[in-house]
Amino acid sequence: MGLPSAEAGAAVAGGWTQRAGGDPLATSGASPMIRLRGVTRVYGQGQAALYALSGVDLDVEQGEFAAVMGPSGSGKSTVMNILGCLDTPTAGEYLFSGIHVEHLSRDQRARLRRKYIGFVFQGFNLLARTSAQENVELPLVYRGESAAQRHRAARETLALVGLAGWEHHTPAELSGGQQQRVAIARAMVTSPALLLADEPTGNLDTARSREVMELLVQLNARSGITIIMVTHDPNMAAYARRVIQFVDGRIRGDLRNPPRDGAGIAPSRPGTA
Ligand code: ADP
Repeated sequence: MGLPSAEAGAAVAGGWTQRAGGDPLATSGASPMIRLRGVTRVYGQGQAALYALSGVDLDVEQGEFAAVMGPSGSGKSTVMNILGCLDTPTAGEYLFSGIHVEHLSRDQRARLRRKYIGFVFQGFNLLARTSAQENVELPLVYRGESAAQRHRAARETLALVGLAGWEHHTPAELSGGQQQRVAIARAMVTSPALLLADEPTGNLDTARSREVMELLVQLNARSGITIIMVTHDPNMAAYARRVIQFVDGRIRGDLRNPPRDGAGIAPSRPGTA
């Protein structure tokens, strides 16, 4: 877990140079984890140009848990795609721990993403006929880790999300809340510094949604992972410590929630789903 050190960042970025004579990550200790400056994303050109984001400035410090809210079409997905290094701004700067992401090649962005960013989606996106354990191991297969390392890491991460004992169940044998916890374990198994969650409770009932949110709160508090979560639901946004409101491609609100007391999540056992 952690932010790119100069050494790790250089490995991720594959030797790009930003400033003559300077390590581009040398200042990363002093930078916020995320800094957007004047980020604009335009789709289309000329008369058809559509400003999905218009000059967004945003700082997110390491260890924050922020909710992103706003009406449909306000730019939430666009900003999440940029934060996740899946897309780049048309104009403006995106610094990830001091690294100018907008200057990276597609390959360098992919490496940064794989090493430091985990994703959780509304629809879980698990492989259907594959056990929870194997789903969680998948990112480690891509990293070339040994079977023994993968097994151990997946078991530990499933235990972390309260699913010890469920390793060999397939998604169909798990509740929606449990499936989302498997998906969170899959995102966490690589120890990312940043977790991006897009409507993680959108497919869940209220009780399961609360469980998933309690889990995210707990992961954030215990491991210090930075979480940015899109949600439409103010009840879910209330679990975050900060709520960022988008309207028409701009940030129109940025509020701190009062601290919550740290209620834990009880691990579920086979047969109690
Ligand atoms: P939200 O996630 O808040 O619903 P989006 O970021 O998806 O908003 O979209 C912001 C604006 O950008 C919307 O007007 C949307 O129609 C437009 N948009 C998003 N993606 C594309 C695209 N690939 N091509 C053209 N317009 C897009």
